[in-house]
This record gives sequence, structure tokens and C-alpha cells, in this order.
Amino acid sequence: MYLTAGLHKSLQLAPDATMLIDGEVRRSFGEVADRVARLAGALRSLGAQPGDRIGILSLNSAAYAEIVLACAWGGFVFAPINARWSVPEMQFQVDDAQIAICFTDNACAAAASRLTGLRQLVSTAAELDSLIASGEPIEDQRMGWDELAGLLYTGGTTGRAKGVMINARGILTSTYGSLASAGQPLVAERFLHISPFYHLAALGSLLLQVQLGSTHILLPAFEIDAFLDTVSHEEVSATTLVPTMMHLVFTEALASGRSLPTLRRIGYGASPISEATLRLTMQAVPGVLLAQRYGMTELGPVATVLAPHDHDLERPDRLRSAGRAALHNEVRVVDPSDRPLPTGEVGEVVVRGANVMMGYWNLPEQTADTLRGGWMHTGDLGYFDDEGFLYVVDRVKDMIVTGGENVYSTEVEKALAAHPAVDQVAVVGVPDDDWGERVHAYVVLAGGESVDASALREFTGKQIAHYKVPKTIDFIDEMPLSPVGKILKRELRQRVSSNAVVEQRRP
Ligand code: ATP
Ligand code: MG
Repeated sequence: MYLTAGLHKSLQLAPDATMLIDGEVRRSFGEVADRVARLAGALRSLGAQPGDRIGILSLNSAAYAEIVLACAWGGFVFAPINARWSVPEMQFQVDDAQIAICFTDNACAAAASRLTGLRQLVSTAAELDSLIASGEPIEDQRMGWDELAGLLYTGGTTGRAKGVMINARGILTSTYGSLASAGQPLVAERFLHISPFYHLAALGSLLLQVQLGSTHILLPAFEIDAFLDTVSHEEVSATTLVPTMMHLVFTEALASGRSLPTLRRIGYGASPISEATLRLTMQAVPGVLLAQRYGMTELGPVATVLAPHDHDLERPDRLRSAGRAALHNEVRVVDPSDRPLPTGEVGEVVVRGANVMMGYWNLPEQTADTLRGGWMHTGDLGYFDDEGFLYVVDRVKDMIVTGGENVYSTEVEKALAAHPAVDQVAVVGVPDDDWGERVHAYVVLAGGESVDASALREFTGKQIAHYKVPKTIDFIDEMPLSPVGKILKRELRQRVSSNAVVEQRRP
């Protein structure tokens, strides 16, 4: 199987049917295949060799999909750059991946123009069109499914972002497997791509939907009205979102009385869904089939799936789970010596299957460590229940060991966040002479609210065991966030330790 196989099939079957819809732009399978073959030829004329990384710094668009397909067609490696990163972070990726040719769009052109070391930057739709017009179409290379197809960078939440080497095997195993595990039909959809392609979850959906011969509807960014209007006008049948977006769009759909009868399937990830969001979604889109996926860039990206029929309001406990191991991989929970743990016990989640990455780019030691013993070590902590549902509780790096007890930062955060004065919270372990590590909380208060540390500790102590209650609390104005909005606990931990040094220096 190769990434462009579906394109050839659609071309044979229905060359004039619409493949890409992006605002006013509508392109048929025939037009897209022609543009892709020409673009691959043009890249070759620009000096790109098979295996070279081609940068894409852009919001979702028809062009984005074509560039990705042109890479697969010509034997080049697509290297999406996160449009929300700062310029130095983007520069790190350009240097690390040795990107010489990069595509960008109007929204990202200013940042892209500040990147150094690029031999060629294709900045606008007009430039892309003239490049395509000048390109000699080449034959599809039909890359082998073990060959390096893409280089995608991890979120950079726990450390420096790592380049993940993925191939068609990883992406297609993961995406087909996750659909099959959700019991969903492998049929052509009218698929709305609203989650950014620089995340493998979205890019994988694009490549799977190409295999299925779907019509792709592209939106550059998340916006409530644009989402609702597009779903209605373009009769969208399936999409992927994250729970926070679902909450926003379906609240608005209900408030404005808009119905979305064509929408049948929603995939979501990054976190479990709350009961409130599920209730809202079911009300706004009756009968919609929801599937949660848990995974990471290294896993193509799916490891477990919470199937539609497991979204049951009668079983709210199950909603907090990430679902069961997807059909394509084995998932285990192990202790620090890699011994499997019994049901109910928390340990590191490890995964084995054809979806696992080829390795990290230029990081042989981290690759060997992460893939040791033939299992991909996810860095996430979780446990299984006796029906095989996985519950993700924390990151290994975020767990706190205090006085010999394990404390999951997420559990403490949940308890603190229940206080009405608390807007955001992050709990970290800091070195402590008495306790080894002590539980320390950073709190951002909601506007106009106030509460002191002792009241907050008392409030928390009513919900969780005494040893889990933060011993110290710092009130701060804002959380340090990664470009994708995840709280950077490594920065918070540094903050505590540098404070400690300052205190020690005091007379
Ligand atoms: P880095 O690896 O650079 O620190 P990252 O892990 O945030 O960054 P991603 O690969 O984008 O980069 O994110 C994967 C992580 O997101 C998982 O390891 C997990 O912690 C979290 N995650 C993903 N899906 C879910 C889910 N359904 N439920 C809970 N957590 C999830
Ligand atoms: Mg990670």
C-alpha cells in the first residue's frame, strides 16, 4: 500500500468528481492528480532529490493537500512546520530537518520570510500555480510502505520537539485500524479538515480519506460560524475535532437552532470528553457517532479507540477512558523494569505494532531508549480496567513521588480546578529535603476572584488524600504554554528550582 494509491483509483473511477473544496476553489480528482504530478516534477527541477525534506508552513488549504501528495508522488519527505510555533522554533526545525525548499501561504508568509537557510520559499498561491504550470509531470514513484514518507515534530511538551520519522505503513495502519476499531465503515466521506495538518492526527485523516476517495473540504482555522456554515453548505459527513472545539460549536448550534443533519461521524482526541460536552453534542447532532482516539505522533498516531457505542451517558466512568487497544496494535501497562502490570495498577503505557514510528530523526539514543525491547514507550502513565479500557492518568515525567507515595499531577489539578476562583492550574513536584519531592501548585485565578493558599488547600483536602494536597501554592498571572496550548510544566519546575537557588543565596 502506498499513500497515493487512492488517488489513482479515484482517477480511474470518477476523474471529474470533486476532490478538493477550499472556499471558491473546487478541483476534481483529474485536476488534482495532474497538478500533483506536475508539482512533483517541478520539485525535481528545483533540485529536490528523493528523500529530501520539503517544508510546509501553512494553514489547511487545497494547496497543502496537493503538496503532501506531490511529496508522496515524487518520493520526497513532507515536513509540516507548526504554524503556531515562534520563528526560532520554526528555525530549529528547518535546521534540524535540513529543509531547503519550503511552501508557505499568506497567513504564514511573514514568519516564513524570517527563516534562514532555505534555498527556495514558495510564498503564495500564484507562485505555486506558476510552479505547477511550469512543471513537467512525472510518474508516481509509488514509494514503498517502509520508506520514510514524512517527518513530523512532537508537541515539545516534555522537552525539545523531536522529529518523528513515519512511513506509509505507520500512517495507514494507524488510520485504517482506528476506523475499523470504531466499527466505522471504510467509505468515501465529505470530510471537513479543520484540525491543522501539522499534527499527524489531521494529516493522517487527510491521507486516509485520500485512500477512501473522499471529497475533502478545507478550512484554514477553527472558527465557530465558519465550521457550522461549512458543515451545512458542503453537507459534511465526517470531521475531527478536540473536545473544547466540540463544546463551542455545539453550544452555538443549539443556541442558534441550527441543525446539522449530514454530520454522521466525529473523531476526537487529545483528551477524554466531559459528560457535559457529550450531552451537548448528542443533543445538537442526534445519532452522531463519536470515536475518541488516544495516541501520539510516534504511533501514526493512534493506539487506543473509545468506540461510538462506548459513549454511554449511563457509564460516565467509561467516558473518562481512552478506550481499548485499537485492532492494529498491542497495548500494555508496565513497571519501570518493563514487566506487565495487573489490571488496575498504574504504570507506563507501551505499544507494539506496525503503526510504530521508524524512529526519531537524528536522535539514535532517544530512539533506542524509546523503542527498547520492541515496545514504544509512550511516556504516559495509565491503567487498564478489567474490560480492557485504558485510563491515561499522567505523564511519567509529571508524576510526583512524595514521602514514598505516588501522586498524579492531573488528579490534584482536577481537585484544585473545581474551586470557582481557579481559572488554570498546574501541579508539579519540586525537590524537598523532608519529602523527596513535594506537591507544588501554580494557580491562575479567574478574573476578579480571590482565594488564599490555605483556603485552597482546605478545599482540596476535602476531595483528595492529605498527602496529595499541595504543600505550597504560587499564584501567577499566566501559564507558560506550548504553541499548541499545553502547559509547559518543565518551565514551571525550572521556575521553582531557580527561586530556590535565589533563596539559598540570601544571607
Ligand atoms: P513531546 O512528546 O514533545 O513532549 P507531546 O507528547 O505533547 O510533545 P504529541 O505527540 O502531539 O506531543 O501529543 C501526544 C500526547 O498527548 C500523548 O503522549 C498524551 O499525553 C496526550 N494525549 C493524546 N491523546 C490523548 C487522549 N485521547 N487522552 C489523553 N491524553 C492524550
Ligand atoms: Mg510525546
